[in-house]
Amino acid sequence: MLQLYNTLTRRKEPFAPLEPGKASIYSCGPTVYRDVHIGNLRTYLLADWLRRLLEARGFAVTHVKNITDVGHMRQEMLDRGEDKVIAAALAAGKTPQQIVKEYTKSFLRDEAALDIKPADVFPRATDHIPQMIEMTQELLKRGLAYEVEGNVYFSVERFSGYGKLSGNVEASLLEGVRAEMDPRKRDPRDFALWKATEPGRVMKWPSPWGEGFPGWHIECSAMSTFHLGPTFDIHTGGVDNIFPHHEDELAQSEGALGHQVVRYWMHGQHLLVDGLKMAKSTGNTYTLPDLQSRGFEPPAFRYLCAATHYRRRLNFTFDSLRAATFALNRLRQEAFLAAQSPDSEGGEEWESAFWDAMEDDLHLPRALAIVWRMMRSETPPGAKARLLRSFDEVLMFGLFAPPTEVPAPVRALVDERQELRRRATFADADGLRERIDAAGFHVRDTRNDPAVVPAPAPPPAKAVGLHSSKDIPSWLEKPDELDFSLILNGRDDLDGLRRGVEAALRHAGDHKIEVIVVDNGSSDGTSEWLEELAARDERVRAIRCDHNLGVGAARNCGLRQARGRYVVLLDSSVELTGDLLSPLAEALEDGPAGIVGAFGVNTEDLRDFEDAPGPEVDAVEGYLMAFRRECVREVGLMDEKFRFYRHLDLDYSFAFREHGYRNRIVPDLPLRRHAHSDWERTPEEERDRLSKRNFYRFLKKHGDRTDLLLASAKK
Ligand code: AMP
Ligand code: ZN
Repeated sequence: MLQLYNTLTRRKEPFAPLEPGKASIYSCGPTVYRDVHIGNLRTYLLADWLRRLLEARGFAVTHVKNITDVGHMRQEMLDRGEDKVIAAALAAGKTPQQIVKEYTKSFLRDEAALDIKPADVFPRATDHIPQMIEMTQELLKRGLAYEVEGNVYFSVERFSGYGKLSGNVEASLLEGVRAEMDPRKRDPRDFALWKATEPGRVMKWPSPWGEGFPGWHIECSAMSTFHLGPTFDIHTGGVDNIFPHHEDELAQSEGALGHQVVRYWMHGQHLLVDGLKMAKSTGNTYTLPDLQSRGFEPPAFRYLCAATHYRRRLNFTFDSLRAATFALNRLRQEAFLAAQSPDSEGGEEWESAFWDAMEDDLHLPRALAIVWRMMRSETPPGAKARLLRSFDEVLMFGLFAPPTEVPAPVRALVDERQELRRRATFADADGLRERIDAAGFHVRDTRNDPAVVPAPAPPPAKAVGLHSSKDIPSWLEKPDELDFSLILNGRDDLDGLRRGVEAALRHAGDHKIEVIVVDNGSSDGTSEWLEELAARDERVRAIRCDHNLGVGAARNCGLRQARGRYVVLLDSSVELTGDLLSPLAEALEDGPAGIVGAFGVNTEDLRDFEDAPGPEVDAVEGYLMAFRRECVREVGLMDEKFRFYRHLDLDYSFAFREHGYRNRIVPDLPLRRHAHSDWERTPEEERDRLSKRNFYRFLKKHGDRTDLLLASAKK
């Protein structure tokens, strides 16, 4: 009996479909303004396994997966009338239609590569504006919505069931509403069903309230009920969809129709990187082509996802993907061997155990374990092969991908080798083994006849780079071996990084230095340039991260490896123009110097910061921060939660202050400042958000330490 965990009731429930033998599924699909990432794909895999399981158990499934091509916006954007598709189009100098076409294509390509069965319908939001308008009208008629100046809002207060899906009520609800209040809303919890257009907007439609465009949530209410009827069985999405998207969808659908619409809500947990949700806005995404270009096969990602239950978080690493590849290759070999025997009866216990696991809320990890136990058991190979074939219709690992048999020439080599071994001419036998390997097969010597299996190319052998700063050993406790460690980091900023590194090398004078360059997951040729430079100049050390670890972590990679008495953190926007190291060393030996640098700020309240000439300052800016390495042992490393650079410098400066150190500016240091690449390339929208996030992080840690400020010392 199939049991599914229902977010609505917060428990596993037996699945009883609306119509016997049928099942209808609606899945929240992509917003097509960028490539889908493997986090999104994890959520689509959940829906795929659900669908395939239902089909394997005899249900006729109708699967609808929407394509959001308008209206998916964050509240701030919404207030400006922008949405993700339009913003991406503007940024790329394309029309929204071009953007939508491009990313719909890449989404379908990635789903196909993962053997995700295409949905029966992929409705697009822009094709369903009339349905959305109709539903909005119905909500107005029922008194659940109100219009203000061409905008229509859902009135949360009027819908008594609001909050039943997410459990968000009142106070916590408000927290979920990220935006500053739109003055037209009667209640901050209310959300837009329809927005009036602003001048110049291209994606707009006529409506009873004037020209405008739909809110994001209404599309899923309108399209799900249009394609699946007024009640349907299962709705899927990622957990981030629960609130506000699905809470709002539920309110709209039930509000307009007057009855329960979705019977089972299923939500997949997130895919994480470094413990953070994979998201474009965090800058930690990988796409399926990213994995492929590193030599991984899509089914390996599928296998990796199957190994963690969908309601658990999955922390993605390349090591785990590599392990999944090995496991999958091995399973394919076992399948190949079993398939050499004709299908036969038997193995009923495995069959029922497998389907029991799958029907227990899609417990794929348990189902996988059962598959492995069966392969190792004494069950006849023909039965194993038969069962595996049926399991793989749901798992979709491609277990029986070609080759399906050993080609005659390879078989001949194996027989010949066997003969040589019988005659104990092992050296010759080994030569044949190599020829067999070269043909893409592998001989396993067993007690009986040797087993021959396909030997697929192994996954990329070496680690592609650091997964986290902790992957690199810390030398902080080691004695100083050099005068200075200069640390620079960059991501896709080859020109800036090169300029900064070359200037640092040029102006090192007689100081014994090392330049540690942390390539924070670049894909613009930075790593090739660095490798070449490090080979040429022994003062240069390259550290490569396999993805963007964030600025805090990148700097920590450098700090962990530094061996100089003094550490100098340089931003790639800073170019040395003369001997800067001598005055820095002098300043650092003077009194209990904490961080010294070129630019500083003071503050009265830890909220507003003003440029300050020094000599003493509250905080040293991140363009250039120098300190004695021994201080790091005491103060600690940088806070890696600061993935974006802003406020990281203030945070570290205050960490030094809290340990009793004074921070100071050295005037007239020989350097030139260039545009800050991270700032320049971050869209305005993103800048504000990332800056704010870091600012609050900073405030939470140090906000009440006015006692540390220079301003309070003067009083
Ligand atoms: P979006 O394009 O952001 O609306 O996301 C499409 C789908 O992917 C939604 O169902 C999200 O809940 C889901 N999703 C987004 N990020 C992740 C993640 N890191 N892990 C798993 N699912 C995700
Ligand atoms: Zn949706």
